[in-house]
Amino acid sequence: MVSRVIPVEDFDLVIFGATGDLAHRKILPGLYRRFIAGQIPETAQIIGAARTRQDDATFREQVRAAVAEFGGVAADEPQLDAFLSLIGYVPIDATGEGGWSELKSRVRPGAVHAFYFSVAPSLFGDIAQRLAGHGIADANSRIVVEKPFGRDLESARALNATLAQHFTEEQIYRIDHYLGKETVQNLMAVRFANILFEPLWKAEYVDHVQITVAETVGVAGRGSYYDKSGAIRDMVQNHMMQLLCLIAMEPPYHFDPNAVRDEKLKVIRALEPVGPDDIVRGQYQANGDGTSYIEDAENPDSRTESYVAMKVRIANWRWQGTPFYLRTGKKLRARTSEIAITFKEPPHSIFDEGVPKADQLVIRLQPNEGMNLKVMIKEPGPGGMRLVQVPLDMTFAEALGADGADVPDAYERLIMDVIRGNQTLFMRGDEVEAAWAWTDPIIQAWENGKARPEPYDAGSSGPEEALRLLHRDNRRWREIRA
Ligand code: NAP
Repeated sequence: MVSRVIPVEDFDLVIFGATGDLAHRKILPGLYRRFIAGQIPETAQIIGAARTRQDDATFREQVRAAVAEFGGVAADEPQLDAFLSLIGYVPIDATGEGGWSELKSRVRPGAVHAFYFSVAPSLFGDIAQRLAGHGIADANSRIVVEKPFGRDLESARALNATLAQHFTEEQIYRIDHYLGKETVQNLMAVRFANILFEPLWKAEYVDHVQITVAETVGVAGRGSYYDKSGAIRDMVQNHMMQLLCLIAMEPPYHFDPNAVRDEKLKVIRALEPVGPDDIVRGQYQANGDGTSYIEDAENPDSRTESYVAMKVRIANWRWQGTPFYLRTGKKLRARTSEIAITFKEPPHSIFDEGVPKADQLVIRLQPNEGMNLKVMIKEPGPGGMRLVQVPLDMTFAEALGADGADVPDAYERLIMDVIRGNQTLFMRGDEVEAAWAWTDPIIQAWENGKARPEPYDAGSSGPEEALRLLHRDNRRWREIRA
């Protein structure tokens, strides 16, 4: 199946922080992929901006190298040259006045204007204020802001207030790249475009839900940044919260940005506080010749968690009695992100040999985006009526294209949505604040205490304590495997 590509309108996209890691690894290669897919008009402009003083030609060579390294497709020289002809560069220090007039002269009236803030959040206010003050942004411009969106409720509110001085909520696109993943959107398609699941999508039929985001990498290289953040701020407040919302929300009346975000917000507001018995924090320790968390963070006294597991309850009619178990960590045994919905066992078994196991729907975000429905069937053969659980597997790369090249990276999709003016897959300001309002007390309680995170071996499945979180409910974590 070849996906249909609908070209977007003519646009000028300005990337602040264009010399940085995110721009090089994700944004620019993603734009190239959309270009070769035919989605970007040949008249569009992509303008890099950062303090580094360089001209268009030098920046284009950087983009060429970034596409070659991170493009994920064989670079086709004529196509790459055509893409590079859309690229320009203006040296700008966000905190100074130089360069803004030149940027203004490059941005064309009539095209869609998008400004991507791929810089530290401390610069968001400077850029927003100067874009407005120099008359570069107008009422139709869009701004894209990266995570982290604050480190607590207070700072998120302050950031929202700063942006609101110059831009309306309809102009602000807060990126959570998890929402751009094909599978995450498929979660909505599966729920709301089929009759099969939705009638069962409630506490009466769902035993529990597990959301896992496991990484094999540690924090080496960005340890001092991570040590001020930790797994709850880095993963739970944003990505995992968004996944939880999409699973738990009521059907929106329409697939419309505010209708979807209203329903997600209701879920966040219905989350019960998490008490100390329902949360386990961990910190990886060296295993073999690797380094420990405190070595990577260069902080021997660090109490920051590189792993967290928690039991979350949603106080509404639909989910009364169905726990959501969340876990995420660094240096775990495999890199995998998945959501597993375990249904209840049939109320009565008519079969003599073996009790039917609970059906399970597993939604894989990475690797190999796809879905897997585990159902009971009869074991093949003449040996009587024995039951066996088998997976009905759908890997999107196989289903949608021969080599998966048709499955766009999350950033590609989200940037195209910005140009299209579609905010459905972006977080609204009140959603972000509500997520911090729920997370803040969990973080505060920990920071006020003296306990240390549970140690776990690098390459393991996390701390033993996390196993007990489920054992005491007579449940088990799914195995972490790629
Ligand atoms: P980075 O590699 O440190 O790049 C920062 C960029 O900001 C550079 O291009 C830098 O260029 C520019 N910059 C710094 N000070 C500036 C100033 N005063 N005026 C104008 N430009 C300035 O950071 P990054 O990893 O790309 O991250 C960018 C943002 O995305 C951050 O908010 C980060 O939290 C977020 N993010 C990153 C990732 C990722 O995978 N990297 C993932 C999620 C979110 P010059 O030095 O040339 O000015």
